[in-house]
Amino acid sequence: MAMPAAEMLDRMRAVVGDRAVLTDPADLEPHLTELRGLFRGKTPMLVRPASTEQVSAIVRLCWESGTPIVPQGGNTSLCGASIPFEEGEEIIVSLSRMNRVREIDPLNYTMTVEAGCVLQNIQQAADEVDRLFPLSLGAEGSCQIGGNLSTNAGGINTLRFGNARDLVLGLEVVLPDGRIWNGLRRLRKDNTGYDLKHLFVGAEGTLGIITAAALKIFPKPREEVTAMAAVSSLPGVIELLSRMRLATGDQVSAFEMMPRFGIEISVKHVPGVRDPFDQPYEHYALMRASAGRRNSGLRELVEETLAEAIEEGLVLDAVIAESEQQVKDLWRIREAIVEAQIPEGGSIKHDVAIPVSRVADFIEQANAVVEKTIPGARPCPFGHVGDGNIHYNVTQPVGMDRAEYLARWGELNDAVHRIVASMDGSISAEHGIGRLKREELAHYKSEVELDLMRTIKAALDPKGIMNPKKVVPEG
Ligand code: FAD
Ligand code: ZN
Repeated sequence: MAMPAAEMLDRMRAVVGDRAVLTDPADLEPHLTELRGLFRGKTPMLVRPASTEQVSAIVRLCWESGTPIVPQGGNTSLCGASIPFEEGEEIIVSLSRMNRVREIDPLNYTMTVEAGCVLQNIQQAADEVDRLFPLSLGAEGSCQIGGNLSTNAGGINTLRFGNARDLVLGLEVVLPDGRIWNGLRRLRKDNTGYDLKHLFVGAEGTLGIITAAALKIFPKPREEVTAMAAVSSLPGVIELLSRMRLATGDQVSAFEMMPRFGIEISVKHVPGVRDPFDQPYEHYALMRASAGRRNSGLRELVEETLAEAIEEGLVLDAVIAESEQQVKDLWRIREAIVEAQIPEGGSIKHDVAIPVSRVADFIEQANAVVEKTIPGARPCPFGHVGDGNIHYNVTQPVGMDRAEYLARWGELNDAVHRIVASMDGSISAEHGIGRLKREELAHYKSEVELDLMRTIKAALDPKGIMNPKKVVPEG
């Protein structure tokens, strides 16, 4: 740090108050590592501003002293983006005190919130005025909207409502030199040149700190139908999705796939999870369709489509939830897959997106490559097939040493990502690039694309203080 540490500390305290600057190792601990424990960082301090003006003053101080910053939301992105490096040079700016809903405008179908609002609280605030904020993901109880926007988060409703990028109308951002850009417009149409907000969406804090966002909200659905189907083949899962979309007039709001292995380990390891079918099947789809009014006929449409598919042999068995409890039980199976993998040993992850029509082909090719690379490894491809975002996780072979297996993470990633690239897919569909995939990104983007990324970074952050050495590969 260019400024002596003690002086920096004093000046930060003068901006946000003594209690909003953390230096005690015990207080810092949860902010230096992530759930997966891949990296462990160090920092001289964590600062907790309470207003945009305070963020601006903090960033200006860092700009003038050349002090690097890591913005941090809920710290759930798990690719090293939200924590500092081991050298301990960056200060962490946590947005968690900036958690006010500034405005809800039900008539305009918008709400304006501060960046540190926890996603679940935003959903609740919308619900209270009979509206829906559709972004929904496993980490919604702890991730923040600033983090969601900075990673362009998706989740189970992406199929119908798009990802974070599609849900934002305006942003307020503190730029790397401390200036505040107020782009909090709540307009559906604005054709006045470059759409600057989209630069900051998915930038993982490398271009500035998002302090507030104007978001779209939607009419709250009045009727929801949840169903789970056992499907006869992997391509059949995609065929069923397509048919459901057609039959319901695109009212499918979520469509998730699960393999037998996922169901098996969920039932085995997670209390309360039950297989809804009385015999095992290879492939499953869990879906939800939503309508704007009660007794809309949606349930009949879902029933008919499933019945036809059963007649043709596309679907082997199906259940439609009859009660709130059954809805919860079905979704519980899908959620349980995440934790059920842990007791099965090491798991090598691939967070990928493929064109929906190629998902089955991708999984078949990837499974073959896995078996060739590490015989006996157990693929657990599950997730948001509705938007082509598959969690292609691979659990270690039974009896293999965990560390020995995990040491092959890079090798397996390379092999699987090559298939992804051959299908014009993405090697990061949810968690971002951070530091985990930064070097790898250089292999999958063209020189032109990399050059554009570096140009944008240099233009907005010429001193390179904003989340340095993340996302944008070295030139
Ligand atoms: P953090 O992890 O704190 O930060 C993410 C990045 O954004 C970092 O680079 C950080 O520096 C930057 N950042 C944070 N706040 C700001 C800000 N205000 N301004 C500028 N930069 C900022 N993701 C999905 O997309 N879909 C899913 O379905 C999904 N499911 C998940 C399930 C579980 C159980 C877990 C643990 C994670 C899941 N994720 C999913 C990943 C993660 O929740 C998302 O990436 C989420 O958007 C991260 O938000 P966060 O507040 O935790 O951000
Ligand atoms: Zn996911």
